[in-house]
Amino acid sequence: MDKQKIYSLLKQYYGYESFKKGQEAIIEHIIKGRDVLGIMPTGAGKSICYQLPALIYDGVAIVISPLISLMKDQVDTLREMGIKAAFINSSLSITQIRKAIYNAKSGAYKLIYVAPERLETEEFIELLQSLDISLIAVDEAHCVSQWGHDFRPSYTRIADMISTLTKRPVLAAFTATATTRVSEDIVNLLKLKDPFLLTTGFNRENLYFEVNKPDKKLDFLLDYLQKNKEKSGIVYCLTRKTVDAVSDKLTKKGFSVTKYHAGLLEKDRRENQEDFIYEGKQIMVATNAFGMGIDKSNIRFVIHYNMPKNMESYYQEAGRAGRDGEYSECILLYSGSDTVTNKFLIEQNSDNIDKTEDYRKLQEMIDYCNTDNCLRNYILNYFSETDLKETCDNCSSCNNDIEHTDITIEAQKIMSC
Ligand code: ADP
Ligand code: MG
Repeated sequence: MDKQKIYSLLKQYYGYESFKKGQEAIIEHIIKGRDVLGIMPTGAGKSICYQLPALIYDGVAIVISPLISLMKDQVDTLREMGIKAAFINSSLSITQIRKAIYNAKSGAYKLIYVAPERLETEEFIELLQSLDISLIAVDEAHCVSQWGHDFRPSYTRIADMISTLTKRPVLAAFTATATTRVSEDIVNLLKLKDPFLLTTGFNRENLYFEVNKPDKKLDFLLDYLQKNKEKSGIVYCLTRKTVDAVSDKLTKKGFSVTKYHAGLLEKDRRENQEDFIYEGKQIMVATNAFGMGIDKSNIRFVIHYNMPKNMESYYQEAGRAGRDGEYSECILLYSGSDTVTNKFLIEQNSDNIDKTEDYRKLQEMIDYCNTDNCLRNYILNYFSETDLKETCDNCSSCNNDIEHTDITIEAQKIMSC
């Protein structure tokens, strides 16, 4: 399948000249027969990602969608474009469903939209077994995971249904929201086979990223806080002990500080969290236990006093800064001992049998701390975002004037000796 054909279908049916971010890569992989998982924000154009391959393939594509209200709209739109499509869900009468099934069997459709609950009926499974299914697209795929915000038990039947088919179709899953945990669930529960993973919309342009290796982290922190006196932020530490030590020091220096970790009483944790959120205290010193579900839009900085265990944790924690879209800073203070602590924590984690994955992720975190290249690109690459700019001009690698100045001063010192 050549690119030209894909573009001509895009133009012919949809009237578009070009693809939106990520669409082309996804379509190319589906056409090559590879499973995909696309995590793309609402409005990114996920529908075309499975509709276009459905047109290219022989046979019929099954689209599993939880939104009965939207299925009709989608099918109407497709029909207007001259694409043969139908939906089967509980809004139809039994007679209408029978008719749709009859038509489907005679090869009348390129796409059939179904609600996941259909997969619970024998009649429908039988229909699927009699069709030549090219592709199964799972829309709103986060519904398969209990950790998602919209768990739909019928989604867990999808993999079983597929296993009853004589020929395994390509599987393409899409969602706008997936944490690592949810996307892992999607891959595992849908049994995606070596999926091509594409994520877009991860870039947060208002966040400045920095990695710093100060001789004395505490001095760096005190200096930073002194310079950012009116601002609110989080200081993440790897262990409870460090949280206690750092928050004590900052309190003694007169900063407005509270703290949070799993070793505190439930009552204190709640109180401290509220103190921070409702502006009673400006600075929160915490372990990674803090932050889930908190909604504070004006966090101006997130400082990692230690390197976290992986990039997922880092970006999730750093990403709590600047929810209001205003400029905010994410600074990671790195030292070699952070690696030692993280390795110790991996070894301590007794319910983890296979540690290789943890070590691999830790190494990628260490690489982030040591790269001279654009930090934002490193992050976006990590999350498989495509179409990166070469530099971002808003991270410590891209704006390294400060380092240049320091080197000059060092050089002057050496020369004046
Ligand atoms: P999502 O499911 O990701 O929320 P949709 O598939 O509903 O997004 O598409 C959102 C809008 O973007 C639709 O109006 C669609 O027609 C439009 N769209 C999709 N692909 C393109 C494209 N390549 N160029 C321009 N508009 C597009
Ligand atoms: Mg959609």
